[in-house]
Amino acid sequence: MPVWTACGRRPGLTAFISAGIHGDEVHAIALLHRFVQELDLKQLTGRLLIVPVANVSGFHAGSRTVPEDGKDLNRCFPGDRKGTLSDRIADYIFTELAAKADWGVDLHDSGRGSVLLPHARVHDPGLLELGAAFGTEIVMKTTLPPGYHGILSIEARKRFRRPFFHVEVGGGTVLWEHLIEQGLTGLRNLLIFEGMLPGKRVLPRHQLFLPGRDNLAMVAPLKGLVIQHVALGQTIVNGQPLATIENPLGKEHAVIRARTNGIVHDLNIRAKVDRGDEVVGVLPFGAFASRKTKPWRLSAERRTNRPGKTVRVRFSEIPGVHGMCWVCHRPGKNLVRPFDKPVSRRAVRLASR
Ligand SMILES: [Zn+2]
Repeated sequence: MPVWTACGRRPGLTAFISAGIHGDEVHAIALLHRFVQELDLKQLTGRLLIVPVANVSGFHAGSRTVPEDGKDLNRCFPGDRKGTLSDRIADYIFTELAAKADWGVDLHDSGRGSVLLPHARVHDPGLLELGAAFGTEIVMKTTLPPGYHGILSIEARKRFRRPFFHVEVGGGTVLWEHLIEQGLTGLRNLLIFEGMLPGKRVLPRHQLFLPGRDNLAMVAPLKGLVIQHVALGQTIVNGQPLATIENPLGKEHAVIRARTNGIVHDLNIRAKVDRGDEVVGVLPFGAFASRKTKPWRLSAERRTNRPGKTVRVRFSEIPGVHGMCWVCHRPGKNLVRPFDKPVSRRAVRLASR
């Protein structure tokens, strides 16, 4: 497993950045590769510990898991020196790299078959500030179902009490240039935020916090060809047609409709699906969501781009809306730009549907 170290000219923090813990997540791997290629060491303060591809054999085989033992590497942390290959890789990453870092980020994507709206995933309020610094319009609160353990960012956060979190950008074993650009901006934002690169962060006008367990999978009711009607990041309303499935062997077809207001955050990219396959993943907000889940309830200090200035932000329950814009403090709706529009480096106010 290759490990790269980048040392800046000035001493500073140590950051850990990894990709390819899931071997088929080539979008995340490509993102980190590009980041390393474009990194200007003369500008860097501190040190980067980089794992470009953690699951090397999985990358060669195109598999999420480690082929030698069939394990999901991101369920093996903190690892075991005497265990199988996955346990030993996990142990090395955990004790030799993550343990030496002041903060860390683990890059993922949706893997095969679909593309994910870029977002940071944070699982405790102390990570909110760094997660938001990545600069995606969606920051997701992750609440893991019972029985989930061994995830790198969560175990490292627990053990080292330092900020470690997880981002998802793109996927589908396709390289989406504008999503890679967005990911690169995010990584630079993190380094700027931590004082490791000069410059000013590029942040969207709005950021929305959403609880991650809410993802509503809209599945195909029959096997067939998919005709998509929505784009990634699009805001949708309850009842809106999302996709049509047509069976080329017969006359049946089915229209998949939204069961909630929300944002398209996971989109199938395959032309053909089987019955039960997820076609569109929606992050709900609005009346449906507020009945089903708990919104954020926390206070956080936020550093602004102006040095020395801190703004107190309070997140509280807003009836019918999940979360609140970090930047303009307004309840979020129609915030996310459609997938087909290129991501501009400048923060823009996002048009409503
Ligand atoms: Zn992954």
